[in-house]
Amino acid sequence: MTASVEDLSVAVAGGGVAGLATARALALNGAEVTVHEQAPAFAEVGAGLQISPNGMRALAALGLDEALRAVALPSQGARLVDGLSGRQIVAFAPRETTWLVHRARLIDVLKDGAEAAGALLRTGSRLSPDAEGADLLVGADGIRSAFRTAVDGGGEPSFSGQAAWRAIIRDPGGPPVTEVFLGPGRHLVSYPILGGFRNIVAAEDRADWTAEGWHHEDLPIALRAAFARFPDRVQRWLGEVEKVHIWGLFRHRVARRWADARRVLVGDAAHPTLPYLAQGANLALEDAVALARALAGPGREAYTAHRRDRAEAVVAAARANACRFHLSNPLVRQAAFAALRALDRVRPGAAGRQFDWVWEYDAATAPL
Ligand SMILES: Cc1cc2nc3c(=O)[nH]c(=O)nc-3n(C[C@H](O)[C@H](O)[C@H](O)COP(=O)(O)OP(=O)(O)OC[C@H]3O[C@@H](n4cnc5c(N)ncnc54)[C@H](O)[C@@H]3O)c2cc1C
Repeated sequence: MTASVEDLSVAVAGGGVAGLATARALALNGAEVTVHEQAPAFAEVGAGLQISPNGMRALAALGLDEALRAVALPSQGARLVDGLSGRQIVAFAPRETTWLVHRARLIDVLKDGAEAAGALLRTGSRLSPDAEGADLLVGADGIRSAFRTAVDGGGEPSFSGQAAWRAIIRDPGGPPVTEVFLGPGRHLVSYPILGGFRNIVAAEDRADWTAEGWHHEDLPIALRAAFARFPDRVQRWLGEVEKVHIWGLFRHRVARRWADARRVLVGDAAHPTLPYLAQGANLALEDAVALARALAGPGREAYTAHRRDRAEAVVAAARANACRFHLSNPLVRQAAFAALRALDRVRPGAAGRQFDWVWEYDAATAPL
């Protein structure tokens, strides 16, 4: 990265993945960066994240890929399983490694990286989109972004008709594989993370509205009841759940404007996505790298134009998965599973390669 961002003073709103990665990226270019996190600490709810190869390339551009590998497990691939019969539908062997990590460990890596690059981090500090004093304000303020409203205007999200539970359990066993159990109107994703833990994300179709946010607790018994017909292994995992959060999933449109004269959006503030492709944090890492490149070169318009196309494509692909994962009609389900098995026999691995364009992307070299 070049150093033409030097002398720019930058205030970042939000100390999540997007804000901390952007702070590191801009500070490495010589900008004077302060991150404002409204929460009293950089605390994270217990949850796992999958950092796919595109996210790892962004971390490599930030010089943080080794630090991430030290706190993550390399995934050996993914398996789709029929959630009712327990039979494997198809297995995917990745061309490149996805890393399974606790969210709090990723935040630690980014926080240390931002500070090491010279950024100042302030907790208990809420930044307004109208704040004065800095040359550039970065809106990394997440899914309900005030910066997005200021830059791009309103636009109410719509409830997707699905809610997701997230939980972490103690579970020392099991290979580092991502398993996706598909059932009628519901699915469950699970993978181990370093330190003898297992991440569980389970989504269910819902007629009713569930509040959007990380901090709504639910009863473990509700989660167990929703997946009572799933295989014994799943029942064992759910039996270990002591604390669970539930999150109503909303469809948001990708922001049309990502920047104005003084402000720029990164992460969920610009492009909230459904979690069905595990790309929200990966896109946020890409944003950080692309923004630093754009500011050092062609400017903010190039960042906006380029990133919007990419985010729209990924968000649309995640939406399409939302329907595929929850097929309810027994005949349609069995036909879909049979088609996947047949495709895998004829062209092994082909089903998994449909998303190569997501994972092969490199924010450090993609044309701006
Ligand atoms: C069920 C589920 C599973 C997921 N799994 C994956 C996965 O496997 N892989 C993946 O890549 N992504 C995944 N994601 C998505 C990912 O978690 C998000 O996309 C990512 O965390 C967004 O980061 P962010 O920094 O943009 O926003 P956030 O993490 O929401 O951070 C925003 C921060 O800004 C702070 N803030 C807000 N307003 C202000 C203000 N005015 N001033 C100061 N601070 C402010 C907030 O307190 C918060 O800390 C998943 C999401 C869900 C719901």
